[in-house]
Amino acid sequence: MDTETLIIGAGIHGTSIAHRLGESSRVIDPQEPLAQWRRYTGNTGMTALRSPFVHHIGISPNELLTYDGRNKWLRNGNKPKRPRLEFFNIHAGNIARKIRPRWEQAAATAIHPIPDGWRVETTNGDATARNLVLAPGFAAKPLIPEWAQGRDDAYHVFSDTDIQALPVRGQRIAIVGGGITAGQVALSMYEKGANVILVSRHKLRQRDVDSDPCYLEPGCMEAFWQLPPQFRVPLAQTERYSGSIPWDVYRPLTTLIRTGKIQHVITKEEPNGKLAFKGNDVDIAILATGLTGAPGRQLTNQLEDEYGLQHIQGIPNTTECKWAPRLYVSGTLAQASLGPFAGNIAGAMRAGEAIHEHIEGQSPSRRRLYSSYPSVRPRKPMPTI
Ligand SMILES: Cc1cc2nc3c(=O)[nH]c(=O)nc-3n(C[C@H](O)[C@H](O)[C@H](O)COP(=O)(O)OP(=O)(O)OC[C@H]3O[C@@H](n4cnc5c(N)ncnc54)[C@H](O)[C@@H]3O)c2cc1C
Repeated sequence: MDTETLIIGAGIHGTSIAHRLGESSRVIDPQEPLAQWRRYTGNTGMTALRSPFVHHIGISPNELLTYDGRNKWLRNGNKPKRPRLEFFNIHAGNIARKIRPRWEQAAATAIHPIPDGWRVETTNGDATARNLVLAPGFAAKPLIPEWAQGRDDAYHVFSDTDIQALPVRGQRIAIVGGGITAGQVALSMYEKGANVILVSRHKLRQRDVDSDPCYLEPGCMEAFWQLPPQFRVPLAQTERYSGSIPWDVYRPLTTLIRTGKIQHVITKEEPNGKLAFKGNDVDIAILATGLTGAPGRQLTNQLEDEYGLQHIQGIPNTTECKWAPRLYVSGTLAQASLGPFAGNIAGAMRAGEAIHEHIEGQSPSRRRLYSSYPSVRPRKPMPTI
């Protein structure tokens, strides 16, 4: 065997798991560890994470509390404090630097079982490992609406373009999308002196987290695990608050809209080819329309087709992140085990813990995975608009 544990993907999930598993693990990814996270978050102009201080890529939940840094938190009354992006990235960057010597620049293209492990075909030759972890991320490519395809005046926020470096002062800019990313980009473009028109299909909705925080605790997760797997995956998806915006973005954004400094257009129609929204011609459009494509679909399809591993709507049918002997998943691929927060940073921490215990020969205790983290439930009910 080349290695004890091979991890496919060096995003938030793969890097976090490699850190937890230590020197016996290696990571492959065509990109540097955390490069995609840095590019995506940098392009949005976001200043703080949506998730609370206990969610990070370290090991102990309270690790960030004692980590060195200035101006570390975004606070608001009784709501759980959240790390500023810059501070989160100092901590995560230090972990990524430790992982880098164990990272190889390659993409996995096919996976085959071998006695006592796995053989992985990669763009850089074959690798063998006793244990394999799939952490290829949550989506394959930017979702570009048909009207914007092939245009050179429309940029997707998750493309290779450095959105925050575009010369936008005095320009009329349409930001297309109604979720957190559109909100963050709209605020950052307004601050750079652009005339911003936010174009969404629905009213802005405030939600502080990506799903009900009870899915971070044994309460809802016990009920989730009672369900047969074919119900768990759709539930994990429908229970996410898609297209919602947390308070630190919602409040300034709605104030700017109310005072006429940012224009908000709600339209169910696709903008026309001239990038005109209710008569307002714009110079450029920034698409905050999300990502598409199932994560690692090529690899998981191949495992299903050739070796009969089971899927539920394209998501591996796993138990505590284990899909087959010595084969584990993390990220949205772990939705059948970890519920609506599987793809979030919280999911990376729980997947890391479960996978570590599997590899150590222990049976991960579901309840313990969910009770070892401080509660982040707000003391007051979350506002819903
Ligand atoms: C702008 C933004 C802000 C977010 N903020 C938060 C937040 O505040 N809190 C929170 O909990 N969550 C947040 N999320 C959600 C989630 O935590 C992130 O999306 C996180 O980056 C997901 O990590 P990942 O490792 O699953 O995927 P990714 O970051 O997408 O990384 C996957 C990696 O796998 C690699 N890969 C893919 N296929 C292969 C292959 N075949 N072979 C080798 N490597 C491969 C890719 O190159 C990539 O580097 C945010 C997401 C975005 C986009």
